Amino acid sequence: MSSPELKIYLDGNLVPESEAKVSVFDHGLLYGDGVFEGIRIYNGRVFRLTEHLKRLYSCARAICLTIPISFEEMEKATLDTVAANNLRDGYIRLVVTRGVGSLGLNPYQCPKAGIIIIASSIKLYPTEHYTNGLKLITCATRRPAPAALSPQVKSLNYLNNIMAKIEAMQAGCDEGIMLNEQGYVAECTGDNVFILKDDGIIYTPSIASGALDGITRRAVMALIEAEGLVCKEEVLTRFDVYTAQECFLTGTAAEVIPAVEYDRRPIGTGKPGPTTLKLIAAFKKLANSEGTPVSY
Ligand code: PMP
Repeated sequence: MSSPELKIYLDGNLVPESEAKVSVFDHGLLYGDGVFEGIRIYNGRVFRLTEHLKRLYSCARAICLTIPISFEEMEKATLDTVAANNLRDGYIRLVVTRGVGSLGLNPYQCPKAGIIIIASSIKLYPTEHYTNGLKLITCATRRPAPAALSPQVKSLNYLNNIMAKIEAMQAGCDEGIMLNEQGYVAECTGDNVFILKDDGIIYTPSIASGALDGITRRAVMALIEAEGLVCKEEVLTRFDVYTAQECFLTGTAAEVIPAVEYDRRPIGTGKPGPTTLKLIAAFKKLANSEGTPVSY
């Protein structure tokens, strides 16, 4: 039996997925002009919804994109879409496009931004990697400098990250570390990166290094402190990762996942470390114990 069609929020209406279509003149499609969020639902509650929507509205503001509905309306639209699909655990993709315009860059010829909310599921990495760990390489493709498109803007143009992902996959790895223009570690193609060094401190690249201010990153930084450990934002090099005792990645889609190899060198023992495993368990507990409730 085929599964029933998803109900997609499209510009104010919930429509069956087969009818959820965007115009070929939408600048989101023509130019990657727009912003998005990936959000998780755990146990009938939306994790860190306010933080995700705040980032969405900030990113839209940074690219002079007016979201045509209020923050509260967006919150309701998101929760309603989850309820309409009766999802208790899953993943929401919220997209705001510049909207329909003409065949030129000019965003001022797009009178109204388009809004798409998809409530479904996502699987970023094979399940066994959550217990065995991921292999990483250094990607030649760099994170853009802040004077280009700021790495803080979750824009619809992910081609840079996709090029880096291709490099990682072609090297037989599931993820890659992207460096910034100066050669410091920024983050992975869709996740933030953390390392545990032999001084017992957990380090993650600072936002100024070109890392996205990830919502999972923030949650995990707080969990580290709650475990009585120390987390520091630092400027990190590949050397730091080569010599780390443990490494893990964080992201909404990825959650918390160990990395055990980097540029063909084992990280630490080459197996997920005890601190990483502790934080994976702590994150699972946190994610399942808070969030904005959905009215089904
Ligand atoms: N870095 C990049 C480039 C990303 O796309 C993501 C996923 N949104 C992250 C980091 C992780 O951010 P978050 O925890 O907010 O999902």
